[in-house]
Amino acid sequence: MLKKANEFKREANLIGGAWVEADSGERLAVRNPATGEVVGEVPKSGKAETERAIAAAATAFEAFRQTTAEHRARLLRTLHDAILDNHDALAELLTTEQGKPLSESRSEVASGAAYVLWFAEEARRVYGDTVPSPWKDRRILVTKEPVGVVAAITPWNFPFSMLARKIGPAIAVGCTAVVKPASQTPFSGLAWGVLAREAGIPDGVLNIVTGSASEIGAEMTRNPIVRKITFTGSTEVGKILLRDAASTVKRFSMELGGNAPFIVFDDADLDRAVAGAMAAKYRNAGQTCVCTNRFYVQSGIYDAFSERLAAASRALKVGPGLAAGTEQGPLIDERAVTHMEELIADAKAKGGEVVTGGHRHSLGHTFFEPTVITGATQEMRFAHEEIFGPLAAVFRFDTEDEAVEAANDTNYGLAAYFYTSNLGRAVRVYERLQYGQVGVNEGAITTEVAPFGGYKESGLGREGSAYGIDEYLDVKYVCIGGLGL
Ligand code: NAP
Repeated sequence: MLKKANEFKREANLIGGAWVEADSGERLAVRNPATGEVVGEVPKSGKAETERAIAAAATAFEAFRQTTAEHRARLLRTLHDAILDNHDALAELLTTEQGKPLSESRSEVASGAAYVLWFAEEARRVYGDTVPSPWKDRRILVTKEPVGVVAAITPWNFPFSMLARKIGPAIAVGCTAVVKPASQTPFSGLAWGVLAREAGIPDGVLNIVTGSASEIGAEMTRNPIVRKITFTGSTEVGKILLRDAASTVKRFSMELGGNAPFIVFDDADLDRAVAGAMAAKYRNAGQTCVCTNRFYVQSGIYDAFSERLAAASRALKVGPGLAAGTEQGPLIDERAVTHMEELIADAKAKGGEVVTGGHRHSLGHTFFEPTVITGATQEMRFAHEEIFGPLAAVFRFDTEDEAVEAANDTNYGLAAYFYTSNLGRAVRVYERLQYGQVGVNEGAITTEVAPFGGYKESGLGREGSAYGIDEYLDVKYVCIGGLGL
């Protein structure tokens, strides 16, 4: 059934199939970053509500784990159809709380639907193994079982699609879930509750709790009923969760921060590199974990690339996400704007040149000018920190070794991109880059069919693809003896 954006905007927790308030009755306001206006409120829940949601998920798990893969695949297909039936409403809701251009919100909702469909298909392919036995009278089977109750925590930058990567595989294999969406963008998370109910997903299979991150997170990590934590967010918070869950030894999927390098060699196709650079830098106003943080450009092409990038950046249309033609929306909050100003001041003090942008946008609020800085060096803060904003820092290099070493000089390892027309170099460089995802002559590579995840402090495990479902499965070895063979 088609709904309007407002009908998805649920201002309550979903626990065991019921929409409920926080015990305290307290609420958190949600603001539209383009206007600063309050667009709604959600419950400020804590430990008690989370504990009840976990209990509801545990109860639902007993029956849900026994459903057939065929049945769960059908539920996910219905969920997928419900998302696409409500594509416009979900995109409008997303832009209203997150700020990104409506076209990007539509892409995010489509991507969420694609992940759900992918896992509907994967649900029926959770195969086990039989292993040749070293004993004549015994047989060895390997089966896969759902891990149990899953706790999911998601960030504000992709509030709809990040949940698809977690809810999709959980339901596919028969797990149940408790979800905590980001406080700045909870409605796109709560919308999953409306969609799940519409798709006939049983009560308690998906529970959603909003509120105090530290209280909800502490209960999720310490409660022994929760068998897996799946988290997308900053490396800093990921480390807190890993530490807190040590006492109950849970499974983990961690999609953490990034510091993506984008290397342009002299032999690159310049048009293609600039187009890729724009895609890899400015999506969601640069607030994406796989966004380019550092452009490394070889000396022979440095000036031409920088000029073209600056011109394309200058031409971006900045505005409210709901306005027609907007290419870059506001940043999520004032803190993000201050962070941009600090990084720019740091780079200028160390010799960087701002060739376009560099300031808050005349639209006010949290709008910021697309910014390009040349003469970037490894001493500048953005060489090691996530920028998370519309700032392109362009570093110069001379040799391939120098570029690869600089690219790998970070604790992160999520995504990397490079442009070259030399096939031997392409293979050499992708083999040396310490990153979970590498785009060769491509600046936008995410798809539900390929594994998404990082090396080093960018995370643990993979989402999407055939690999993503294993994260929700325990492997059981069964030895059948006494066969009298
Ligand atoms: P964040 O501050 O780590 O928050 C992410 C989520 O964690 C939010 O729901 C937040 O809740 C919650 N949280 C905060 N403190 C917590 C605690 N002590 N215990 C439990 N949960 C806690 O990250 P963000 O600023 O929202 O998102 C940006 C970060 O996410 C960037 O580092 C980005 O690279 C990363 N990211 C990674 C991927 C990936 O796939 N690798 C994808 C997208 C984003 P509140 O909102 O209530 O504070």
